[in-house]
Amino acid sequence: MPSPVGHVLCGILIYLIINRYNNRYSLSVLSLYIFFSVLPDIDFAPGFIIHDPSFFHQGLTHTLGAAAIAGTIGSLILRRKGQFINCCLLFTGIYYFHVVLDYIASASDTSYPFGVALFWPFSVEHYSFPVMIFLDIWRGETNTTFISGLFNYHNLLAIMIELMIFLPPIILLYYFSFHKKQAD
Ligand SMILES: [Zn+2]
Repeated sequence: MPSPVGHVLCGILIYLIINRYNNRYSLSVLSLYIFFSVLPDIDFAPGFIIHDPSFFHQGLTHTLGAAAIAGTIGSLILRRKGQFINCCLLFTGIYYFHVVLDYIASASDTSYPFGVALFWPFSVEHYSFPVMIFLDIWRGETNTTFISGLFNYHNLLAIMIELMIFLPPIILLYYFSFHKKQAD
């Protein structure tokens, strides 16, 4: 899996792509994109209850079914008139892109489950990407070591790789779609 930094950058990139023809950008809408980009990793939370933060990770929340449920709930909460289907599809898509990104990063998975159940509930098969692009994120195995285990040279390198992949398209899109229009 990529780090939260990678998922946040991916959310920003999706926002810039979808809203590239807008004249202004909205921080609240961008926040929604980022929220749904990191939401699947909420599965660390129940693990803390049983003192094994990674126990449920990359399971049920990292599936097509969970993306559809999250998109539907998000759209119901937002209650935009006449926009239910559009919001539902958008949120589902952003959420699912996290799952796809974890799939693309799955060649570096160093712990169970290996790969992602991309198409659950239609298939229980876990898919692993054949080429290593991202580095796995190391973390502590217990509640007390989880956070401190994130700070190491390997994870710093992983984040540097994510920055190298996501920052160039973000900067280019920002410049051409927003900055340039504001200058016009
Ligand atoms: Zn994830």
